Amino acid sequence: MTPSPSPLTLSALQAGQPVLWASGADRSGAAGPAFNGISNADVDGSVARLARFAPLLARLFPELEDSAGTIESSLLPVPRLQQALELPTAQGLLLVKADHALPVAGSIKARGGIHEVLEYAESVALQNGLLPEGQASDYRLLATPSARLAFGRYKVAVGSTGNLGLAIGVMASALGFQAVVHMSSDAKQWKKDRLRRRGVEVVEHAGDYAQAVAAGRRAADADPQCHFVDDEQSLSLLLGYAAAAPHLARQLAALGRPVDAEHPLFVYLPCGVGGAPGGIAFGLAQIYGPHVHCFFAEPTRSPCFLVEMLAGTPLLAHLGAHPSVYDVGQDNRTEADGLAVPRASELAAEVVKPFIGGVYTVEDDTLFRDLHTAAATEGLRIEPSAAAGLAGPAMLLGSEAGRAYLRRHGLDTHMAAATHIAWTTGGLFVPEEEYARFHARGAAMAQTA
Ligand SMILES: *Cc1c(COP(=O)(O)O)cnc(C)c1O
Repeated sequence: MTPSPSPLTLSALQAGQPVLWASGADRSGAAGPAFNGISNADVDGSVARLARFAPLLARLFPELEDSAGTIESSLLPVPRLQQALELPTAQGLLLVKADHALPVAGSIKARGGIHEVLEYAESVALQNGLLPEGQASDYRLLATPSARLAFGRYKVAVGSTGNLGLAIGVMASALGFQAVVHMSSDAKQWKKDRLRRRGVEVVEHAGDYAQAVAAGRRAADADPQCHFVDDEQSLSLLLGYAAAAPHLARQLAALGRPVDAEHPLFVYLPCGVGGAPGGIAFGLAQIYGPHVHCFFAEPTRSPCFLVEMLAGTPLLAHLGAHPSVYDVGQDNRTEADGLAVPRASELAAEVVKPFIGGVYTVEDDTLFRDLHTAAATEGLRIEPSAAAGLAGPAMLLGSEAGRAYLRRHGLDTHMAAATHIAWTTGGLFVPEEEYARFHARGAAMAQTA
């Protein structure tokens, strides 16, 4: 059902054909304790921080009462979707990691974005003596009027195509910070409206996402009381995303899905700048070493992480380091607004390069078709960006590059025992009218397929 991938050539990239690149790296290093100066201890640190804040979050957000302040998503068996996507059970079991329903932010940004705001809040609180030092504090103290007044003297700013802005803006304003979100002109109107209703200042910029980030960074640099969440360089974001990994490992264990040399795990992660998939891939590599294979999924017209991985290889030898999608003749125009990014995060690229499984691209038509299929088969309400992971198994098994990867790592004989996880990264807060339009477009695609 998914269109067959084209061989990876410059003309296929330029023409916007779906392609898969598989890493040729020796992935045995994926079991190492630390990459690029960050380690498992840092992931533990972000897990612990989220736990410290949970009682406060349960107080600030009624929707978190039932989970006692934990922001997490389900890991769902999806047999009807697996069948509709034509993934035979002889090739493994498909699961969906349902971040499209994450509370508070409605997308995967609830992980990294909220973590970074909390880390900043913690440092401001300690600086201002809002938390008694040297003992396990009750973070609910930070909801008191005096703490909120103190937070109100500080500002949190971010540049975003939408979802990151939603996560940062909502959490920052809930704590009492001033919040500013710089958005590119192509960001969806409903996201701007939702933020403004929460008292967040929205600054609109002509130009693309990277330009909105740059403008936001400049404005924040001039203000010492302002923390800028830098999607292209932030370690705090990356480690917030990585905190998903230990929780996922418990969910896999609860479903009785082992992960080892005979039971490989494939994870398909929608990718914008690469922070979210990079952090998660890092966290999973800490747990499963070379037995987890993370593939990043991008729109054919915004393949920024793919070109970053290919920089310096013969295919892109004519380009310098850190190329953009424009450099390969692409235009960054996609309905997958969470993934519409022209240039990858160098931090994320550097972190994952030694162990990433690969990157593939998906046409918008396929995103809409899979969005519809997920709704029709399993009742999942996802946004176009979030559908990019669903094409993963077909791209891996249907491409020569993917099959060669499986043979190279001795995985082809273990596929019946494999687990495939498509990470559905957003959707909860898409307004009904907009979702209906997505769904109708996908239904039309499914009919013509
Ligand atoms: C932001 C986002 C992603 C990708 O995250 P990056 O850190 O930009 O790679 C994927 N899906 C959705 C819905 C998002 O909002």
